[in-house]
Amino acid sequence: MAEWSWQNAAACRGEPLWLFFGSAGERHSEREEREAEAKSICAQCPVRAECATYALSRPEKYGTWGGLNPEERASERRRRQRRALSEMVRIPEDSSRKRCRVCEEVKPVTDYGRANDTRDGLNSACKRCTAAMSKQRRDKRKAAAS
Ligand code: SF4
Ligand SMILES: [Zn+2]
Repeated sequence: MAEWSWQNAAACRGEPLWLFFGSAGERHSEREEREAEAKSICAQCPVRAECATYALSRPEKYGTWGGLNPEERASERRRRQRRALSEMVRIPEDSSRKRCRVCEEVKPVTDYGRANDTRDGLNSACKRCTAAMSKQRRDKRKAAAS
C-alpha cells in the first residue's frame, strides 16, 4: 500500500482515465493531442518522479505515466538497462589495452573515456581523438555561424 501512497498527491486525480489511457479506435492525431494534454498535467505533478519510477519498474504497456508515453518508457527502460550493464562491466587494469577506432593505435584503457552504450563501457575512440573530433565539430559550427 505504501507503494501507492504517492498517488494521493497525483495531479491526475479526478481527471478522466481516457486522457491518460486513450480509448479504442483512437486515431494517431487524436492520440498525439491527448498525450500532449496528459503530459502537460504530468509536468505540473508533484509526484511525477515517483510515478515515472513506478511505471518504469514494471512492464506497464499502456497509458501516460510520469509524463512518458509507452514508447518513451520502453526506450527509457532500455537506456537504464544499458547504463546498469555498463556499470557492471569493470574497467580492466592499466595493463589491458585496446585499439582506437580513429587513430588505430593500441592504447591503455585509461586513454579512453567512459561510455554508456558500448560493450566494454569505454569510448571506441581514444581521448585524444575524441577531443580532436569535438574540436572539429566546434570549429565547423563556428564557421557555419559566422
Ligand atoms: S505524473 Fe502524471 S500520471 Fe503520474 S501521478 Fe502525476 S499526473 Fe498522474
Ligand atoms: Zn585515437
